[in-house]
Amino acid sequence: MTESHGARLTVDLDALAANWRILAAQAPGAECAAVIKADAYGCGIARAAPALWRAGCRTFFVAHLSEAQAARAAVPEAVIYVLNGFPPGSAAAYRAGGFRPVLGSRAEIAEWAQACRALGGALPAALHVDTGMNRLGLSVPEALDLAGDSPLGAPALLMSHLVSAEVAGDPLTARQVAEFARVRAAFPGMPASLANSSGTFLGPEARHQMVRPGYALYGGNPTPDRPNPMRPVVRLDAGILQLRAVSRGETAGYNARWTAPGPRRLATLSIGYADGYPRSATGQGVALVGGVRCPFAGTVSMDLIILDVTDAPEAALARGAPATLIGEGLDVDEVGRRAGTIGYEILTGLGKRFDRHYIGDEPETRGEPLSRVGEGQG
Ligand SMILES: *Cc1c(COP(=O)(O)O)cnc(C)c1O
Repeated sequence: MTESHGARLTVDLDALAANWRILAAQAPGAECAAVIKADAYGCGIARAAPALWRAGCRTFFVAHLSEAQAARAAVPEAVIYVLNGFPPGSAAAYRAGGFRPVLGSRAEIAEWAQACRALGGALPAALHVDTGMNRLGLSVPEALDLAGDSPLGAPALLMSHLVSAEVAGDPLTARQVAEFARVRAAFPGMPASLANSSGTFLGPEARHQMVRPGYALYGGNPTPDRPNPMRPVVRLDAGILQLRAVSRGETAGYNARWTAPGPRRLATLSIGYADGYPRSATGQGVALVGGVRCPFAGTVSMDLIILDVTDAPEAALARGAPATLIGEGLDVDEVGRRAGTIGYEILTGLGKRFDRHYIGDEPETRGEPLSRVGEGQG
C-alpha cells in the first residue's frame, strides 16, 4: 500500500478549507481566524496555512515563536499572533517577523512596552484576560485597571479563552461570557475575541469581532453532544504486513493480554505507538478493514498493531492491503475516546514517521494563469 512500508497519513486540504468556511459562516459579522499551533494540529503548517489563506483566512494563532516563523514562511502576508506571549529578550525577533505576542501579565506587558520603545515605537500585541482558566492572562481587575492607563497604547486585540465551551450548558461558560463582556466594555472600540471551535457555536454573545477555532478546522467535533458538522480532514491508514490464523486459547501480543475466544484471523498492521498511535488504545482500539470495524487484539506495540480481522471481507485481506485507523466512519473524536484521551491529543501526536500525503487544494495550479491551468481541458 505505501512507499515506505509504514502508515500513510492523508490530509484533505479541500476539507480543511471547507471547514474554515463553515466556521466563518457560523460567525457572521466576525472575522474567522485559524489556530495553527502544534504544526496545525499535526496536519502540517506548511500546507495547512496556505490552504486556509486561500480559503480567505487572514489571521493565524500559534503557540510559540518557532511556530510563528514556520507560519510566516507559509503565509507571508498573514497577521500572526503568538499565544504563549513573548519570552524575555525576543522582541527583536517579533519585530523582524511581524509577530504579535498575546500578553498576559503585568511583567510581560511592561517588558514588551520597554522593548518596543527601544526598537523605536509601539508594535501591535493582543491582551489576554483570564476569565476562569487561571492559566495565562491578566485578572479581570488587573485588566480593568490597565484599561485606563496602558503602557501598550491600544492593544490590537482583547482576548480570553473558554474553559469548557464544548460542554453544552456549562454555567462556567455563561459566567466567562459575562465577565469578558464586562472587560470588553472598559476597552471601547477594541476588537475582541473569546471563542474557540466550540465557542463559535455558542451564539452571538460569545463571538465578538473574531473567533479562533482550531480543532474543528481539522475535523474534530466542536459540538460533542450533536452530530459533527465538520468534514473529516485526516485519514490514517496502515498496511497489513502479515495475516495469520490462530485457534481458540492462543494469545497475541506482549504480555498475552488477548486470548482467542475461538478460531480467529489476525492481521498485523505497520503502525504502533512510535507513530503516535496511543498505546492506551490497547483493548479498546478499532480499525476499518473493507468497511468493517475490527477490534485490536492485544497490546499496541512500538511499530505494530494486531487486529482481529475475522469479520472483515476476504477481499480486503491481503498483504499490503490497508486498514483505516482514522477516517470516514471512524472519526478522531472516537479514536481519542477509545484511547482514554481526546481527539486533540490524537491529532497533535500524529508522528513524523508516516508517509504524508496532501489531497485537494493544488497550489501548483491554483495560482497559475487560467490559460495554463485550463490547457488540455478545452
Ligand atoms: C488552542 C487555543 C484555541 C483553539 O481551541 P480549539 O478548541 O482547538 O478550537 C483558541 N484559543 C486559545 C487561547 C488556544 O490556546
